Amino acid sequence: MSNRSITLTDSLYDYMNDVSLREPPLLLALREETSELTQRSMQISPEQGQFMALLARLIGARRCLEVGVFTGYSSLATALALPDDGRIVACDVSEEWTAVARRYWKRAGVEHKIDLRLAPATETLDDLLAQGRAGTFDFAFIDADKTSYLAYYERTLALLRTGGLVLIDNTLWSGRVADPEVADDDTVALRHFNEVLHRDERVDLSLLPLGDGLTLARKRG
Ligand code: CA
Repeated sequence: MSNRSITLTDSLYDYMNDVSLREPPLLLALREETSELTQRSMQISPEQGQFMALLARLIGARRCLEVGVFTGYSSLATALALPDDGRIVACDVSEEWTAVARRYWKRAGVEHKIDLRLAPATETLDDLLAQGRAGTFDFAFIDADKTSYLAYYERTLALLRTGGLVLIDNTLWSGRVADPEVADDDTVALRHFNEVLHRDERVDLSLLPLGDGLTLARKRG
């Protein structure tokens, strides 16, 4: 026994999902289709999708943001957890990858919940702020280009209501953030991002060793 997070061996990881994963068939199909792509590592893990859906339900989310859609696993998992009038503003720049996402949103009957904006996410977030939507979102997920994380986070925080939750993906970056020898742009950006959030008194904070590291930040009043 230890008071630190458990090390997940392959067999323990498989056991964990064997006894807890409840992946809807369409999410499984999307995960399998995405696993054929060379960029497949950009897809979140199924247990992370399930955790995000649970969080969205916990806080009664209705207005959501997603920065970085890829082929749509997280947006589909979230959309399935939302009430029928729930909505996600989903930001991405790839027509090709979001075409896969749109196909699955439609098959799942949740396409009416998702407002896809194909544009740089900072522009979409700035548009929402300009439209007076600051303080109106409940839930957000940031999983896009790492060097822009702070820009996305600041805008997202402004768009969240008090008590709203933003999740940020890849904050442990395969362990590279903890290796002082690694100094590429993405790693440096993520290290800086983690340090800024650690000091950010505007949010309650937790960094979970789930997937590739998932940071939870709840907007304080
Ligand atoms: Ca990711």
